[in-house]
Amino acid sequence: MRSPILLCTDLDRTLIPNGKQEESPGARKQFADFVNKDFVTLAYVTGRDKDLTRQAVDTYRLPKPDYIIADVGTSIYATTDSGLALDDEWQQQIKTDWAGKINQDVRPLFAQFKTLVLQEESRQTPYKLSYYLALDCPHQSLFPQLHALTKKAGVAIRIIDSIDEINNIRLVDILPQGASKRHAIEFLMSKLAFDLHNTVFAGDSGNDLQVLASPIQSILVANASVDIQKMALEKSKLSGNEDSIFIAKGGYQGFNGNYSAGILEGIDYYIPNLL
Ligand SMILES: [Mg+2]
Repeated sequence: MRSPILLCTDLDRTLIPNGKQEESPGARKQFADFVNKDFVTLAYVTGRDKDLTRQAVDTYRLPKPDYIIADVGTSIYATTDSGLALDDEWQQQIKTDWAGKINQDVRPLFAQFKTLVLQEESRQTPYKLSYYLALDCPHQSLFPQLHALTKKAGVAIRIIDSIDEINNIRLVDILPQGASKRHAIEFLMSKLAFDLHNTVFAGDSGNDLQVLASPIQSILVANASVDIQKMALEKSKLSGNEDSIFIAKGGYQGFNGNYSAGILEGIDYYIPNLL
C-alpha cells in the first residue's frame, strides 16, 4: 500500500482538453487509472460551479473526484453517498472578509466602472462576483481602485484575473480576500492531514497562478501560454518557491505534455515511481 497523496487539479484546459492544442491519445485513460487507486484523493479545483463541474465530468468522462473546490475556491464540496456536501466551515471562514455582505450587496460598489461587464447570473455566487473586461481595457490601474473602494466599505476582496483565450476576453473574479484556489487547497490539506510532500496541484492559467507560485508542488501543463509560463516562473522565484513549480514539456511515455499528459509528467517528476 502506497502512502496517500492529494492530487488537486484545475479542469478547463488542464485536465479537460478544451484548448487549442492536441491531447495525447490514451493520456486521460492513464490519468483515470491512476486516480482511481486507493491511495489517491482527487480534488477538482475550478472556476466552474458544482453543476458545471458535474456536467464536465459526464461530458469528458472524467474520474469522479473525492472533493470539488468550485467557484474559484469560494466553495468546497465533498462527494458523499447522498451527493455533494458543501463544507460549511469553509463558508463561515471566508464570509468574515465581506462583513456579512454577499454578491448583491457588493455589486453596487462597482457600478461606476462601465468597462466591467457583469457575467451571466448563472456565473455569480454569494461569494464570487464575476465580470468580463475587454482585453484592451487597462486593468492595472483599475484593480487598485476596486481595492480602495471596497476597503472603504469594510469589504476585503481578492481579485483574480485570467484570460479566456478562446473568446479573447479577460475574466475578473472578485472573491473574499481569504478565498482563492490556494487558500481552499490549504484548507483541504489541513482538514485531511496532507502536507507539502504528499500534495500535488496542476493548472494552466491566471487563476492558478497563486497555487503555482506557492510552496505546493505544482505542475503547469505544456499547453499553458508562454505568458503564463513566464509569470508562473517569475512569481515562484520571487516567493522562493522555484523548487515547487514544474512546467511539463512532453516526453513522458511519449505523450505531448498537454492536459492530463502534463499532469502525469508532473506527478512522475515530484514522486518518481508512483505511476
Ligand atoms: Mg484552466
